[in-house]
Amino acid sequence: MFYKSTRNSSLKKSSAEAIVAGISEEGGLFVPDHIPQITADEIKSLADMTYPERAAFVFSKFLTDFTDAELRYCTESAYNDKSFDHASITEISHLFDGTYVLELWHGPTCAFKDMALQILPYLLTTSLKKTGIDKKVVILVATSGDTGKAALEGFADVEGTSIMVFYPEDGVSAMQKKQMTTQDGKNVCVCAVKGNFDDCQNGVKAIFTSEDVKAQLASKGQMFSSANSINWGRLAPQIIYYISAYADLVSNGDIAMGDKVNITVPTGNFGNILAAYYAKKMGLPVNKLICASNANNVLTDFLTTGIYDRNRRFFTTVSPSMDILISSNLERLLYIMTGDDALIREWFGKLSSEGRYEVSDAVKAQLLEEFAAGCCDDAATKATIREIYDKYSYTLDTHTAVAVNVYENYRRTTGDTTKTIIASTASPYKFGTAVLEAICGEAPADEFDKVDKLHEVSGYDVPASLAALRNKAVRFTGSVDKSEMKEFVLAETDKI
Ligand SMILES: *Cc1c(COP(=O)(O)O)cnc(C)c1O
Repeated sequence: MFYKSTRNSSLKKSSAEAIVAGISEEGGLFVPDHIPQITADEIKSLADMTYPERAAFVFSKFLTDFTDAELRYCTESAYNDKSFDHASITEISHLFDGTYVLELWHGPTCAFKDMALQILPYLLTTSLKKTGIDKKVVILVATSGDTGKAALEGFADVEGTSIMVFYPEDGVSAMQKKQMTTQDGKNVCVCAVKGNFDDCQNGVKAIFTSEDVKAQLASKGQMFSSANSINWGRLAPQIIYYISAYADLVSNGDIAMGDKVNITVPTGNFGNILAAYYAKKMGLPVNKLICASNANNVLTDFLTTGIYDRNRRFFTTVSPSMDILISSNLERLLYIMTGDDALIREWFGKLSSEGRYEVSDAVKAQLLEEFAAGCCDDAATKATIREIYDKYSYTLDTHTAVAVNVYENYRRTTGDTTKTIIASTASPYKFGTAVLEAICGEAPADEFDKVDKLHEVSGYDVPASLAALRNKAVRFTGSVDKSEMKEFVLAETDKI
């Protein structure tokens, strides 16, 4: 299998080359040249495998340049009960008639980003070896909270790599800040930026693309790579858990092999739901993909009208990991649907110049066929947390609550009662303030009082990684102006 770029169909890269590069030179995203198939017998056979075995099996269809031994090394190093609090890695809970919550947050940082960022360092270092690149990789991350910590935890003390994370000084929760600034590891560095998330993101992009910085790094035997969801090495691991969950539902007798299921995903950058789309195109029996957004509902509008328009107010919500107006993985979906790199260049050119584009009628028809979409505001998110807690004694985090709200609305308005998997993307402990406000009407001010209170209310074990933060010393207190990020990176890469 080869990888093309969404903006250059004639490109032919191996998966290892695509993972090392992160993003294609002309700005496009790497996509496999065809979508491999999975048969009913293969899906059934997963039931007898461990999660690392399932993962290696699915990867073998996409990362065809990796040997079986390399894939097994990567999946067994990433998915084990040292990093995850369940040996099964993910968990499925039956919420109400035919509606299942797929818990993807049993990893070290309590958000679904761990499912990909625990394995990305192994995929990346293996890819470096395979491509014969003998450079130290510097991972640069701009984060609004979850990605930064998950990337730090994945890359900490990984030989041949170092990682630098920039976060907006006043733009992350107290728990997220504590998670990042106490990070262990000799090769990690965390820095606050006096600005918002866009300032961090723009700063990182400018550093990535600066020929001057790249040349200085090369002279030190270093190169940049990316850990955000434009990297194929972050997307591919997410396809696995949808197939794995389906196999579990079949083996538990909840569905029969071949029965179609809906999949609902709380969406920001469109990575997680795109992975579900890939699983469907591989042959997983899926009916509708339901895309759930918060008040930043640019995707709801796009999937129902075919017009993408980012010229709108930006809302800060209680589900901050979905506060996004440019969903970068949409580019991959539109490329799969059209196969036309010229069209992608035209649409995404318009997105950057005018902030808006409209897809063709043929694509609109495909979007309506494959997807349903909905959104809800903070009040509705909290009402859903309360409702699910009262009715089923199940405590949702804010992001998953958006998905449950949108799904219930979909079910009510369409009458579609197809069994449904809802992707649950974070532990409620990560967003304790809003969860406690929803359930108790108020939340204590101190982050660890919130943890205690949530334990009392939900009865869920406190994740060991969050409990350990209480007495952990802060290692990183620095903050820089956005104009100083480049000098900061150059100075830090001198120390590596
Ligand atoms: C990142 C994130 C999302 C959004 O996922 P995308 O792949 O960006 O669509 C949803 N929920 C949580 C908790 C997240 O961290």
